Amino acid sequence: MSKYVIACIENDVEILDELYNKISRIVAYDYIVESYINAEQALIGCYNHIITGNEILITITGNNKSKMNIENFIIELYKSSPNTKNIIFNDIVSVESLSKIINESAVYYIMPRRLDKVDFELIILEAIKLNSLERRLKDYQKVLEGAVEKRTKELNEINIKLEILATTDALSGVRNRRSFYESCSPMITYTRRENKSLAVLMIDIDKFKLINDIHGHSIGDEIIRIMAKRSEKSLRKSDIFGRLGGEEFAAVLPNTSKRGALQAAENLRKEIEEAEYNSPKNEKIKFTISIGVALLRSDDPDLKSILHRADLALYEAKKNGRNKVILAKSND
Ligand code: GH3
Ligand code: MG
Ligand code: MG
Repeated sequence: MSKYVIACIENDVEILDELYNKISRIVAYDYIVESYINAEQALIGCYNHIITGNEILITITGNNKSKMNIENFIIELYKSSPNTKNIIFNDIVSVESLSKIINESAVYYIMPRRLDKVDFELIILEAIKLNSLERRLKDYQKVLEGAVEKRTKELNEINIKLEILATTDALSGVRNRRSFYESCSPMITYTRRENKSLAVLMIDIDKFKLINDIHGHSIGDEIIRIMAKRSEKSLRKSDIFGRLGGEEFAAVLPNTSKRGALQAAENLRKEIEEAEYNSPKNEKIKFTISIGVALLRSDDPDLKSILHRADLALYEAKKNGRNKVILAKSND
């Protein structure tokens, strides 16, 4: 455990002894009272204490006869120990050096050299008290900063979870309607600006009502999950996919031509057609999807208008027997 050091500096050995005895009498066992006959020795001694983890609580400076003067000692020590309370006897420094000390470090007290007065002990005790108060305040600040940091981290994690909750469809785990629209919007802007191609797929599970009616709603839910998982697997990572509601999904395929879009839709249709789901009752369930495909046109004001064309194509697919991919008329 670190100890607290009170350093006395005085070249008159008798006065130094008196200082030492007086201070030793008033401080507790975990304080080290050091006496140094000059500033140079004192600085070396203080550095040694700092290196070993001790804290320089107080310096009391009297007469000094070394190459290092008092002001340099206090200013140097201040660099490594800014909280030290420096007490100086009033007869040892000039006004100039005192102003230098005050400007470049800190002086706690300038007192008359009258060690017999009660004032002296009070000043020392006050300095000790102040120092421990500052230490407690610093510890408290550390605890507080730790608590704030922990809470900030927790809040960030909660925000991330909330963001996921707000943008994810709880049943299927893919983007919900809002997030789908939000993610697509910058993609549409970019595609228009760069004059690139972009395709939209509107996807709907065929006769889903029948699946619910025959197998029950929870199997229906499972089919929606399987549909989402298989679609994500079949589409590219760069494609934007989401559940718009019920058994209806949509995908935006950036940088995709008519041929590419029809191929992607056909791959997805086939992937679903070939899939077989084993229910908990060991029933083998198969289902199909219909897909309407539309391509972004220069006169499309927004995502809605291209989705509408894809929806019309989807309606055509349903009308023509389902389990089909149909391209929107205007993109023929
Ligand atoms: P079509 O081939 O024309 O698309 O026929 P369909 O039966 O798939 O279409 P319809 O719109 O008539 O029925 C959709 C059904 O989907 C009705 C609704 O109860 C069901 N549904 C909607 N959301 C959910 C859901 O989250 N879970 C389940 N299990 N069923 C849902
Ligand atoms: Mg349907
Ligand atoms: Mg539907």
